[in-house]
Amino acid sequence: MASSTSTPVPTRRSVTVLAGGVGGGRFARGVRHLARQQDLDVTVVVNTGDDLWLTGLRVCPDLDSVMYALADANDTERGWGRAGESERVSAELTAYGVGWPWFTLGDLDLGTHIARTAMLRDGDDLTRATARLAARWALDVTLLPVTDDEVPTLVDVDRPDGTRDRIHFEEWWVRHRAAIPTHGFVQQGVERASVSAAAAAAIRGADVVLLAPSNPVVSIGTMLGVPGVREALAAARGPVVGVAPVIGGRPVRGMADVCCAVVGVEATAAGIARHYGARRDGGLLDAWLVDEVDADSAAELQRDGLRTRAVPLWMTDDDATADMARAALALGLEARGA
Ligand code: GDP
Ligand code: CA
Repeated sequence: MASSTSTPVPTRRSVTVLAGGVGGGRFARGVRHLARQQDLDVTVVVNTGDDLWLTGLRVCPDLDSVMYALADANDTERGWGRAGESERVSAELTAYGVGWPWFTLGDLDLGTHIARTAMLRDGDDLTRATARLAARWALDVTLLPVTDDEVPTLVDVDRPDGTRDRIHFEEWWVRHRAAIPTHGFVQQGVERASVSAAAAAAIRGADVVLLAPSNPVVSIGTMLGVPGVREALAAARGPVVGVAPVIGGRPVRGMADVCCAVVGVEATAAGIARHYGARRDGGLLDAWLVDEVDADSAAELQRDGLRTRAVPLWMTDDDATADMARAALALGLEARGA
């Protein structure tokens, strides 16, 4: 009979994912799917640049997208918000002339924002409020905002008359579909902000850090702009592996190409890898995954010294996405062992 006393206690490996909203939520589901097979602890650190106060409520679009996706409560057909949603409260708010008529918050979704606002008003920070909201859903994943500070992403644009304006990211994204002359992104208040202690610890201490295939500018980029995030990644104990958010030069869903153009980054798998940079050269990445159609750029990046592999990167379902996460983990551990 095997002696149980001599058996070493297996330590669970920890994975920390940096993520935006919808793409980040899909990826987080795949990582959790893998975690259930491999016994991993998963933490998802989420972008808060899209957050805003609207009709008196604190709305956190990316945190909610990730939470709803992990909870199986998201509307997969529409692509955002809650499944089975109604919009009676929103119609009332519009009738009172309150809020943004082009930014409809569903009734169930408003329940989340009311609960969050109540927690914040009672003294919770966003990290604590997020944990309390997530506890309802038994996500099997720790969800963390990247910062407890309010750092909204604002966008410098032209008005129709050609004068400059600075608008909230959600107005640029949802109302204007990113289709107006755009000059840049500003993180308001970032100089007074810092990464949350929990997010920094999750990044530094993870066995592997994964950058989800989220928007490299307005999701991952805004997180990197929060003081302390780059430092935590640089000090990370484990390898940092990124997953390309573009396949064959196209953003799969979303507007990563528009955002990349605004900040002068080439919207290709190789261009985004170079934008993040290799960790050994002062950048972020120990390894990078591209899609099979981008195998040529994988070879090119390898030659430049970044460990890169080409695998299917379509997040069609949890199995396919778990395969991506498995490949990312393997590549990261390989990079670390090298
Ligand atoms: P958002 O905050 O809701 O805009 O979502 P994210 O920033 O997390 O993710 C949006 C980005 O995910 C898109 O711009 C795409 O570039 C990327 N994306 C979406 N679906 C896929 C997919 O199936 N595969 C890959 N590789 N990238 C994807
Ligand atoms: Ca977002």
